[in-house]
Amino acid sequence: MVRKRDPNLLTDYSCFRCGEQVCWGELVRILRTDPEQEDWRQWELYAHRACLRSVLRAEVPFAMGRHWTSGEPLPDDSDQIDGQPCGFCAGEIGPEGLTRLRLQNPVGTVRAPAFDEESVPVHTACLRAASHSRT
Ligand SMILES: [Zn+2]
Ligand SMILES: [Zn+2]
Repeated sequence: MVRKRDPNLLTDYSCFRCGEQVCWGELVRILRTDPEQEDWRQWELYAHRACLRSVLRAEVPFAMGRHWTSGEPLPDDSDQIDGQPCGFCAGEIGPEGLTRLRLQNPVGTVRAPAFDEESVPVHTACLRAASHSRT
């Protein structure tokens, strides 16, 4: 039997934007995959769908058109990162200020995690400014 997650169930994760706990139905996982960060699993953030949409510029599709099954290598996302403006402020990003974000929508089961995802480049400073706890 496949265990499905109850969309109304609260997760243990709090939203990076508003600081409130997020339920499964609204959860977006955000992976920071900056090249200099070797262990990307340490750089997970979480957000309410609406909170994330509110900080993304309107042109970001937020359609999660790519599929990733957990455990497989992350799909190439350079076409959504390279030369693209900041997903928050639309400004140009130099290589030193770049933070790569993968926005992931959980679509798998508890046993077999999978995600629909989309990548957005942002300024490291913009990410910090958008965060609830600015540590
Ligand atoms: Zn929130
Ligand atoms: Zn920016």
